[in-house]
Amino acid sequence: MESCRTDISSVGKKRILLVGTGGTIASEMGENGLEPELTSRQLLRYVPDISGICEIDCIQLFSLDSTNIRPEHWLCIAGAIQECYEQYDGFVVSHGTDTMAYTAAGLSYLIQNSCKPIVLTGAQKPIGYETTDSKQNLRDAFTVAASDLFGVMLVFNGKIIMGTRARKTHSKSFEAFSSINYPVIGVVQDGRIIRYIRPDGKRATRFYDILDSKVALLKLVPGIDCGVLAYLLEHSSAVIIESFGVGGLPVYETGSFYETIKRGLEAGKIAVLTTQVENEGSDLSVYHVGSSIKKNLPILEAYDMTTEAVIAKMMWILGQTSEREKVAELFYTPIACDILSAF
Ligand code: ASP
Repeated sequence: MESCRTDISSVGKKRILLVGTGGTIASEMGENGLEPELTSRQLLRYVPDISGICEIDCIQLFSLDSTNIRPEHWLCIAGAIQECYEQYDGFVVSHGTDTMAYTAAGLSYLIQNSCKPIVLTGAQKPIGYETTDSKQNLRDAFTVAASDLFGVMLVFNGKIIMGTRARKTHSKSFEAFSSINYPVIGVVQDGRIIRYIRPDGKRATRFYDILDSKVALLKLVPGIDCGVLAYLLEHSSAVIIESFGVGGLPVYETGSFYETIKRGLEAGKIAVLTTQVENEGSDLSVYHVGSSIKKNLPILEAYDMTTEAVIAKMMWILGQTSEREKVAELFYTPIACDILSAF
């Protein structure tokens, strides 16, 4: 564990742990493109003014492009936070933007009811570039981590987003993340937090350390062969199907999705239906193609949850139980504001 206290002299300031994991924010140009090189300690040297906000220690867990981040890494981040949870008032995790929403969702299930802020941030441009969002995102993340907000959040381009509601919606702009089907918690403007909502009150913090990562995602395309679904059901514990519109499954003459799911469920697998439409979620009851499936098979429905959250939640649930009723009960239990719809 690398440690760098930037402001030991300050008294009364919050103590924040910066956890480095890589990403563009920490990247430098190599022979074949950007690669994460800088440690969390080196990142902080670019923003010396942050020591005016709080006292900071740093650890570097790994240096990865977030394309390479897996659920094992979520466990590693959660474990590192758990290990020093009592010593710090808040945590900043610097991370690549590409899978940050998945990690934010993963941490939201691995660290439930955190009474301290756990803030993920990163950047679209490396911290060493002349034009970069890195420095402002780091400043804003530390401002939130040193505030009285709590829980897992993603802070980017001034927006504070619930960890279960974030999605990367722009691949290049600084405005990279959106809050899906849920308001942003607030914004950071000129170093000040303007809070719009106040999510759930504080309860006892609980850490988890098991995930079942055998969760697959199938995005339907017109004409898709249901053999693809059969394969995924056979090789996974759960399959999330991103269907069209408010939700439904195609009925073809050539093969039955209904029968394929039925066989998967009989083999003990879990199936979740969600939508590939970004906003407003699913409602399988509306059309025959959805309601007939929902009425006759014990599938789950994601409603207003993000696909990132559904995937992470299912990995967490299946780490606890494989009993179908218990899986359903946990799936529909709101955690960190991940699901709202009345059903
Ligand atoms: N490919 C990078 C990553 O996710 C992109 C970024 O950080 O913005 O690590």
